[in-house]
Amino acid sequence: MSRILPLADLRPPRGTGGLGAPAVEGDDVAAGATVADARGRRLHDLRISVTDRCNFRCVYCMPKDVFGRDYPFLPHAALLTFEEIARVARAFTGLGVGKIRLTGGEPLLRKNLERLVAMLATMPVDLTLTTNGALLARKARPLADAGLKRVTVSLDALDDATFRAMGDTDTPVAQVLDGIDAASRAGLAPVKINAVIKRGVNEHAIVDLARRFRGTGHIVRFIEYMDVGATNGWRMDDVVPAAEILERVASVFPIEPADPNYAGEVALRWRYRDGAGEIGVIASVTQAFCRDCTRMRLSTDGKLYTCLFATEGHDLRELVRGGADDATLARAIAAVWRRRDDRYSEVRTAATPRERRIEMSYIGG
Ligand code: SF4
Repeated sequence: MSRILPLADLRPPRGTGGLGAPAVEGDDVAAGATVADARGRRLHDLRISVTDRCNFRCVYCMPKDVFGRDYPFLPHAALLTFEEIARVARAFTGLGVGKIRLTGGEPLLRKNLERLVAMLATMPVDLTLTTNGALLARKARPLADAGLKRVTVSLDALDDATFRAMGDTDTPVAQVLDGIDAASRAGLAPVKINAVIKRGVNEHAIVDLARRFRGTGHIVRFIEYMDVGATNGWRMDDVVPAAEILERVASVFPIEPADPNYAGEVALRWRYRDGAGEIGVIASVTQAFCRDCTRMRLSTDGKLYTCLFATEGHDLRELVRGGADDATLARAIAAVWRRRDDRYSEVRTAATPRERRIEMSYIGG
């Protein structure tokens, strides 16, 4: 299990500076200020995991032999309430966060999620959500009405056999496709479709997915198979490099590189030469992008993590429930970010130990 660091022990490192707007120095955090970590990266994105449960058992995230019937998921009382999440999110916006993504587990399993969306939608952020799509057909409209802007849907194959092999689920692909259509109709567009590609399992899905979503306005993003968590048995041989993914698409549909939408965009953009839209590749193994990583993660039970591959979290819930005022909350978050030195994907090797790693289903992908 992870180590949780008491926030009181955190002190900002000396001599760190930001890129662009100046970083906040010292203990005080001015409203609207930005905060930079030890490598000069500004805090800009917050991923909030609203549940550690999921209705799928994807082999790369929640393999069934580990996350079985007896797995000790968090009790309800341990979860941050919507009011607590909104309070923390507001503190983050005061530190320069402009983008919030709701994740899980599967976020649509959290009851009345629209209520949280409505609370977050009042803040000056780009508000998005990542889902496996199984419940999206009936949730898309209420979420859009509550103020959600866009969704990203995970979909690793278009044939049921491969989809079920990757997700270890009985959900048919058609149900996820219905969810994508519903999201599009509700205005949660462009819908992004994330496909994790694993060697020997779903390489054939690369061209299938490109073909299926060309010309729809949706954007398929192919993700290199990663060593997330401690339980997915990752090997470097499982990775289909982004360059190969692009070659496979280009062999059928000519593509050309497109400029990033903004500095630090995770996906590398490519567009179809015939104008039928674009795809993306997330080359987190072969072309790590830690140097531009501006993401902090808030776990379901209120721990802060500064990297997807973290082994240590920082307990914010203790502060929230202990009566800390907003300024104290902001100072604590800023202190965690200032100490951040993570660049896991840049230094990963096949021999990197994984046993103590936090599971992605707990801190959000
Ligand atoms: S490995 Fe960590 S620091 Fe690098 S991009 Fe991923 S989350 Fe960011």
